[in-house]
Amino acid sequence: MPMFVDTSPPGQCIFCKLVAGEIPASKVFEDEETIAFMDLGQLNPGHTLIAIKRHADNLLDLTPDEAAAAMRTAHRVAHAVKKAFNPPGLTLLQCNGKEGDQTVFHFHMHVVPRWGDDGIGLSWPRKDPTRELLEQYAAQLRAAIEPA
Ligand SMILES: [Zn+2]
Repeated sequence: MPMFVDTSPPGQCIFCKLVAGEIPASKVFEDEETIAFMDLGQLNPGHTLIAIKRHADNLLDLTPDEAAAAMRTAHRVAHAVKKAFNPPGLTLLQCNGKEGDQTVFHFHMHVVPRWGDDGIGLSWPRKDPTRELLEQYAAQLRAAIEPA
């Protein structure tokens, strides 16, 4: 995970400054709600960030339309990454909260071109719960989910 952590207050965060044009960015695309630009760290060539233009800390602060706009732009950028760099794989990563490995607290999504030996790792510690426990988790979510 990236070591840089942005501790700026909301509205003065580095992505708000980037959206306002106050700091430089290598822009790839923008529309009314989103902006796409090169990640400074470049895990692989073509590594791009998609951010919402309005300051929103994370996924839970987005409107449904902003969430859709972010994925629309990620989808568009993913096609461009495939065309420009032709990686055999592609990972989308979107982190929320410090415990979720978020380091800049302004909603963004990574589009990362992937190669088989690129050294990028994601720990995936399976818990393999019983079917009964899975059903209990599903029931908790069904009770919590908002109607469409
Ligand atoms: Zn911001």
